[in-house]
Amino acid sequence: MTSSSLRPRAPLEILKEVFGFRSFRKGQESLVDRILEGRDVLGIMPTGAGKSLCYQIPALALGGLSVVVSPLISLMKDQVDALLQNGVRAASLNSAADWDETRGVLSDVRCGRVSLLYVAPERFENASFREFFAALRVSLFVIDEAHCVSQWGHDFRPSYLRLPEVVGLLGERPPVAAFTATATPEVREDIALRLNLRDPFVLTTGFDRANLFFRVEHPRDKTLFLLDYVRRFPGSAGIVYCSTRRAAEEVCGALNGKEFTAVRYHAGLSEEERRENQDAFIYDRTPLMVATNAFGMGIDKSNVRYVVHYNMPGSIDSYYQEAGRAGRDGAPAECVLLFAPKDVVTARYLIEQGENSENRQTRYRKLQAMIDFCNTSRCLRAHILNYFGETADGELPAGGNCGACGSCVSAGEKTDITLDAKKILSCVYRMEERTGRRFGISLLIDVLRGSQKEQIRALDLDTISTWGLMKQRGREELREIVGFLAADGWLRLSEGEYPVLSFTEKTLPFLKGKETLLMRRHTPPERPEQNASLGGRQKRAAPEETPPALFSRLRALRRELADAQRVPPYIVFSDAVLYELCAALPENEEELLSIPGVGQVKLEKYGARFLEILRAWRLENPK
Ligand code: ADP
Ligand code: MG
Repeated sequence: MTSSSLRPRAPLEILKEVFGFRSFRKGQESLVDRILEGRDVLGIMPTGAGKSLCYQIPALALGGLSVVVSPLISLMKDQVDALLQNGVRAASLNSAADWDETRGVLSDVRCGRVSLLYVAPERFENASFREFFAALRVSLFVIDEAHCVSQWGHDFRPSYLRLPEVVGLLGERPPVAAFTATATPEVREDIALRLNLRDPFVLTTGFDRANLFFRVEHPRDKTLFLLDYVRRFPGSAGIVYCSTRRAAEEVCGALNGKEFTAVRYHAGLSEEERRENQDAFIYDRTPLMVATNAFGMGIDKSNVRYVVHYNMPGSIDSYYQEAGRAGRDGAPAECVLLFAPKDVVTARYLIEQGENSENRQTRYRKLQAMIDFCNTSRCLRAHILNYFGETADGELPAGGNCGACGSCVSAGEKTDITLDAKKILSCVYRMEERTGRRFGISLLIDVLRGSQKEQIRALDLDTISTWGLMKQRGREELREIVGFLAADGWLRLSEGEYPVLSFTEKTLPFLKGKETLLMRRHTPPERPEQNASLGGRQKRAAPEETPPALFSRLRALRRELADAQRVPPYIVFSDAVLYELCAALPENEEELLSIPGVGQVKLEKYGARFLEILRAWRLENPK
């Protein structure tokens, strides 16, 4: 097998021969090099950045046994399957395995037949395993999903806290390499401290996911929008997130009633159904998953082409984590959020139902950042990166135009709302002037539309000059404009349960000045086949350039090969590889080997079958 050759190999050579990739991605090479120098490392890189290779390549270069701690069976299984596909001797010890299987793995490890051993952290609580482990020679100790060590994070696992002690059991301390995608600074610091890393080389790459296209839509009818949207991705995998179980049920029902097949996932289902549905999705038997936020943890499925948020989540943290499940393979993928004012009501309700009032303030603040994301006309990617405290400037081209989000590619669709904005802002001013108080969005809109409501008469607001100034305008339309003004800093919304409006430092100069204000109107999009996902940043072969008929043949073959081995199809080849095949149409083994993601072992295993399909295709479609 490729990985067992005795000659020590350079990282780049391993990258090419074993994994079939031409070059390292950002950050990978320096982490690999530091590990090979014997240093501890902490790699903080976003989902899909390629953290696994950062330790798998040193493991193969160092030879012997490397141990990888991973928190979830599904993640371990995925990694081991993927490594075996590339001819790397990998195994895992997990609670789902029976005793015979476990004994087999232990004996393979002892005899030096395993290069990478994946272990759940709890396994080290077991005295006989500790004894077994202590007697091993370990070349590299890896801690994946290292944020699990932090109580600040969301996936805390007490067993992670004992890992430094576990490393101490070994006769000779190997380098320790920890990895996580978690963004918050307090968790990052906690990790290095609690894992007892020694003078670690810490590398943080940016949190941008260049292959993801972000969009917010304000459709009048979300279900209709969704059906149209899903139709654009025939056969591709997508996730639809809903904020409640009930919504998940309804949406799943609506999709299944049409030409689609979808499965559902939420905490109200039996464990068995959840597992079945999850498997149906992962193994590409059902392309659509409709779920609450209960779904996704530990899912490494790389070929998710789109994530729809049917409802607005409560924070950008949740949003980015869920949306980030699209496009792990690096091929273009879309994240679209369907916004409706009702989502704000639901999100507020969920906060009010929540535990203590102290973190309620924080949650309201986070919610407002999420609402602003839905209303802004500025770059959505910059909004996210700024939220995580990253200066988007470093990562985005000048001017903050990312070229791959709904705001940046629809620059031409903006409308001039200068006059509307001035009317609205004046009304905010007059209301405060008359009453000495500040008010929320609803009452503002009532006044603008000339409502005769009791409250308005009682406050004498029906006699100010802006009362009824926008009588003929719809509530939703006005709400959209006010939301935009708040999101982009022309108005301030206070924090807390009942946010009220006031001016910012930008408001008066605007009211007095001649500046034109442009806003992206969220008209219900009918543009069906717009190549919105081909942003300037996406250079790889894109789905839109791919002949659908060829792609589906390749996909069918992938499925057949995967089913025969009982692994998820994306383990055989990622979508990214299939797109490349469609674009490059390789004619022989050598050309096939030059496709990123096709290594020596996969070439031998699958090359002939794929070349056969490509040859037939070329004959049928001569130019
Ligand atoms: P992470 O753990 O950071 O979320 P993974 O290690 O699972 O990411 O890798 C995500 C995807 O990126 C995988 O499909 C992997 O094969 C691919 N990948 C990793 N490194 C490279 C590279 N240098 N070139 C091309 N693809 C890569
Ligand atoms: Mg990972």
